[in-house]
Amino acid sequence: MRFTTPPRPFDVAGVFPQLAPLARTATRLHPRPGSPTVHDSSVGGPLLWPADEPWPHCDEPHVRLMPDSPVFSPEDERQWRRALATGEAGTRNGPGRPWPEGPIAMLPVAQLYARDLPLPGPSSADLLQVLWCPFDHGSQPKTALRWRFSAEISHVLQSPPEPSAIQHSFYLPEPCLLAPEQVVEYPHPLELSDQLQQQLADPGPWEAAGVVVHEHSDDDDEDESASYDFYRHTLSISPGWKVGGWTRWGLTDPQPRFCPVCATEAIPLLTIASTEWNAGSESWMPQEERSTPTPLLPRSNPAGFTQVTLAHGYDLQLHICPLSPDHPQIELIQ
Ligand SMILES: [Zn+2]
Ligand SMILES: [Zn+2]
Repeated sequence: MRFTTPPRPFDVAGVFPQLAPLARTATRLHPRPGSPTVHDSSVGGPLLWPADEPWPHCDEPHVRLMPDSPVFSPEDERQWRRALATGEAGTRNGPGRPWPEGPIAMLPVAQLYARDLPLPGPSSADLLQVLWCPFDHGSQPKTALRWRFSAEISHVLQSPPEPSAIQHSFYLPEPCLLAPEQVVEYPHPLELSDQLQQQLADPGPWEAAGVVVHEHSDDDDEDESASYDFYRHTLSISPGWKVGGWTRWGLTDPQPRFCPVCATEAIPLLTIASTEWNAGSESWMPQEERSTPTPLLPRSNPAGFTQVTLAHGYDLQLHICPLSPDHPQIELIQ
């Protein structure tokens, strides 16, 4: 499995040299449904978990806001998805499962081996594992990270515990294999200086460089100039699941993200996305899938291969302290 982002239409740092030192490498993960093992980098796959280490549980309160909407177990959900895939499913009804009491076993969200992609941050570990509690904590699940040295794990936990129910089906990631690909990103325009933002919005420099600005017919902000919008959608930040790169903004303007322990500015680690691309970011759709699209389950988000939806279609971006792997991550919905 290999996915290739089409080259950007032109080198934006060639026209705006102030951008050149801001270039960052991001690794697009390109998760697609598959059968990962504990030895694979994956989304929603089994984790290389030491047999003698307790599985993480969430013991925070889990409040049932809609008592009439049933909740289901992860296995109920898997059966439902298999039925959807074969066209068998009608509507899902029935009482569902009891609302769970007590601590909730967390679910695997992602497992990333450093042999497959560079892992940001201060840890020298070669394996990052991300789990979450599949219940709303505010508007998002609550995450847990583990940094590991994979060679130290000789006995792997065979049957990790699962929650007896999950709050939303879209908090159960579909098992996916990854096809990591590195791309270059530039900051969201609102993270640039006022002067550079004005230059990006001015058609003059673009015309002088002979650049054809592609307008987005679906533009969600009519106040933006076409060139500013083109930069934001096409030239700055890649969509979908990714590691590293620049922070995506969309729900709010950029905010400071400081480590809660040492107040150092946190860096982007993993972006957990509701969609791999949408109408505004179609230019990032892999070349291979333009001719041969990967099948999607019925009722999925556009390019929603992982079946994950966060905060009605936004992304959960984990940021970490660049100084210590022991300092807690920051969860940012954008
Ligand atoms: Zn929880
Ligand atoms: Zn820190």
